[in-house]
This record gives sequence, structure tokens and C-alpha cells, in this order.
Amino acid sequence: MRAVLLGPPGAGKGTQAARLVERYGVPAISTGDIFRANVGGGTELGRRAKEFMDAGQLVPDEVTNAMVRDRLAQDDVRAGFLLDGYPRNPEQAAVLDTMLAELGVALDVAVELTADVDVVTERLLKRAEIEGRADDTEPVIRKRLEVYAEQTAPVAAYYADKGLLAQVDGLGEIDEVTARLVAAIDR
Ligand code: ADP
Repeated sequence: MRAVLLGPPGAGKGTQAARLVERYGVPAISTGDIFRANVGGGTELGRRAKEFMDAGQLVPDEVTNAMVRDRLAQDDVRAGFLLDGYPRNPEQAAVLDTMLAELGVALDVAVELTADVDVVTERLLKRAEIEGRADDTEPVIRKRLEVYAEQTAPVAAYYADKGLLAQVDGLGEIDEVTARLVAAIDR
């Protein structure tokens, strides 16, 4: 399986990605997680990404695309992958197409996990209390949702044009949502 998981911050992509990884036996590639690991590890990549992440903005495409290119070149993704948090704008989507073409593979599906803005805002504020992620403060959450609406939402249309988009309701019990995702992917 080669899949992309789309959806607003707080829609539950990370939670669901962990479950899909088990089911399909492919690695998840979360650009947010890779950035956070680099920030935590004090790498040059982390240093470049941090100011954008803290502001709720996208890390510049050249940085993000290069990072994904490296990750997709690794052996463990040959049999498939689940991308979580990438692509996040139509330019990244086009670059991903090129990278996959160079690798001689193609995407099977882009699944969009949909969720109401009020619900995701509330979830993120709750998560802020529990996890204390640096970008889970109210103004940064608002900015991330704005960036999502302006830059990432059009990625769904990009995949719809290619006949690859499946939309899944992200509201409800975690198991229920997983079942919907599996049904959409297997279709
Ligand atoms: P969320 O979906 O909850 O906003 P992520 O962990 O996916 O959280 O992303 C956190 C931050 O990492 C983003 O706000 C952005 O700054 C950066 N980031 C993650 N993925 C990308 C990407 N594909 N392009 C640019 N920036 C990204």
C-alpha cells in the first residue's frame, strides 16, 4: 500500500496512522514527527524548521521535500508507506508525484480524514494540556487551521482530479474511524 493521509490538525491522523501501519505492515512517515525529532535532537534541520513550526506555518518546501525524498529512498519503504502530514500544499503534491515516478511507483490512494473546525480546535486544546506540544497554544492552533484551509485543503482537490481521493468522516469512536479508513483503502 502506498497512501497519503490528509486532514486538518487534530483530526486524528497520527492515531489512525499508527493503527493502519499495523494493519498494512508499512511504515508511517510523519513529517511532523520527523521535524519534532530533529528539533529535540538539536540538528540543523530542526533548527531551520523550529521557527516555522512554532508560528504554525509550513516549513519551506525545499526543506520538507528534501527530507521526504531522503526518507522515501530508504529500503523499508520499498513495499509501501503511509504518508502523514505530507503533502501539505499542491506544490508538495506535485513534487511527491515526481519522486514516486523516479522510484517507479505510484500512489494507491489519498484518504482525507474530515472533521469540523470546532471539534478539532477543542481536541487540540485538550491535547495541549496533556502533551504540552510547543505549537498547541490557542493562537498557533488557529494559525495552523488557517494554513490548513488555505494551503492544504486544495491538496484534496489535487487527488480528486486524479481519481485517488477517498473521504472519511473522522468523528466518532477511534475504532469506528479505523474501520471506515480500512474500508476506504481496501475499496
Ligand atoms: P498538525 O497536523 O497537528 O498541525 P504535524 O505534526 O503534522 O501537526 O505538523 C506540525 C508542524 O510541522 C506544522 O505546523 C509545520 O510547521 C510542520 N510540518 C509538518 N509537515 C509539514 C509539511 N509537509 N510541510 C511543511 N511543514 C510541515
